Amino acid sequence: MIYTGRCACGAVSLEISAKPAMTRQCWCRQCQTIAAGGPTNNAMFPAEAVQVTGDLGTATWAAASGNTLTFHFCTGCGTQVYAQSSARMHMKTVRMGVIDQPHDLAPQTVIWTDEAPAWAVFDPELARYPGQPPIPAPVPQG
Ligand SMILES: [Zn+2]
Ligand SMILES: [Zn+2]
Repeated sequence: MIYTGRCACGAVSLEISAKPAMTRQCWCRQCQTIAAGGPTNNAMFPAEAVQVTGDLGTATWAAASGNTLTFHFCTGCGTQVYAQSSARMHMKTVRMGVIDQPHDLAPQTVIWTDEAPAWAVFDPELARYPGQPPIPAPVPQG
């Protein structure tokens, strides 16, 4: 396994067998709501590379991007584990908080900066988008 992970209570665990296609930090209003006022930090993996053990609940809503997002969370502690977008069902967007440390992941881009609070600080090294970034190229299929 390249990465392993767990939720806050330990009832859900993850095994991830690939490197992420991309990593992003998102400051959209919905992410701030689920992330205690800060951004979410996310790593997008090929869906089949992410194996989850344990009970997951789901919630589905329309994202700021206009896509439908389904959130998967631990039914015991509520930790956000991963999300899937209707635009990219071949990917799982794993919340970086559940990935075991130490790991080599860090956000590569910052998105939805227009919705960030005035106190937000962005890494000047990273590409920044005021809203949804351009759709990434599809992952080549074997
Ligand atoms: Zn849990
Ligand atoms: Zn967001």
